Amino acid sequence: MSGVSPAIVPALLDWYDQGHRDLPWRAQPTPYRVWVSEIMLQQTRVEAVRGYFDRWMQALPDIRALAAADEATYMKLWEGLGYYSRVRNLHRAAAEVCENYGGELPADYARLLALPGVGEYTAGAVASIAFGIPVPAVDGNVLRVAARLDNDYTPITDAGYKKRTRERFAALMPADRPGDLNQALMELGATVCLPNGAPLCGNCPVQHLCLAYHRGNASTLPVRAAKKARRIENRTVLLVRCGAMVGIRRRPARGLLAGLWELPSLDGHLSPDETRTALTAQGWQVQKLLSLRPAKHIFTHVEWHMNGYYIELADQPAGMTFVTPAGLRAEYALPSAFRAFLSVIEEET
Ligand code: SF4
Repeated sequence: MSGVSPAIVPALLDWYDQGHRDLPWRAQPTPYRVWVSEIMLQQTRVEAVRGYFDRWMQALPDIRALAAADEATYMKLWEGLGYYSRVRNLHRAAAEVCENYGGELPADYARLLALPGVGEYTAGAVASIAFGIPVPAVDGNVLRVAARLDNDYTPITDAGYKKRTRERFAALMPADRPGDLNQALMELGATVCLPNGAPLCGNCPVQHLCLAYHRGNASTLPVRAAKKARRIENRTVLLVRCGAMVGIRRRPARGLLAGLWELPSLDGHLSPDETRTALTAQGWQVQKLLSLRPAKHIFTHVEWHMNGYYIELADQPAGMTFVTPAGLRAEYALPSAFRAFLSVIEEET
């Protein structure tokens, strides 16, 4: 029994060699493919990313193509993945790579880390998997595995714990296969050492080295610091029609979903009469107003609890963009928060 120690390295590499998930980015692990996949996988499940990754690579097969792409193109490819700052940073980083590194990601951990949107985990993943540089890639999966191997009840959300864990894995990196060790750890966390008190210890290649398993604590680890409760925001979302067209607008350049297209909305949960009054006061000529099914959307720190109305207007008001339902679907990236209300016009597209 030894916890996180050199003994886990051959056990994990042997297990990884015996078979692992067939993921599209593992075929041809070029720096660009590893980078894009790791950014997509932040906060998003592997199964959800597969289709996005393939579509992205077909449309933007290399860094130069990404750097040259316009906003509508890369936002559309990202539509539904959420956390849109990730795709904006990908684009900014691609431009920097073209300007400073001739269109090739640098084979250098510190330079990767300096790119927009690239943190220690992503820099470690790209450096080790694509370039064979012996640096660790420690994400939530790996922190969970480490806490269980060590039977350590320090909250894994603690910055000091994360730093110590990264240093300990850095000392274990094999010079010849750092990328495989990192991928083996990711694979273990994703397929065996599962979260939410449900590790599959019977399938684990490092069970004999795991202190939590031997002490019967595997399902009670890891510990996390208590999260702050999310703020609840009540909103009244408007699916605005004018003839065959649908009204959308840009969100403010700062804050939640910054700069993205959206369905217009009003603060609070307004009744039909209050909504009609508010819209009339801003000069809208409402011809029809129907209630839609309420919906909820959860962001990291905020929850939107949304009422919705289908509104028909006589004229297109200023400050909004009107598009056909088919055009909306094909060319505009709308955050998934609004998806529930768009189902009303899905059949028209
Ligand atoms: Fe995780 Fe269980 Fe393996 Fe320990 S034995 S590393 S708890 S799966």
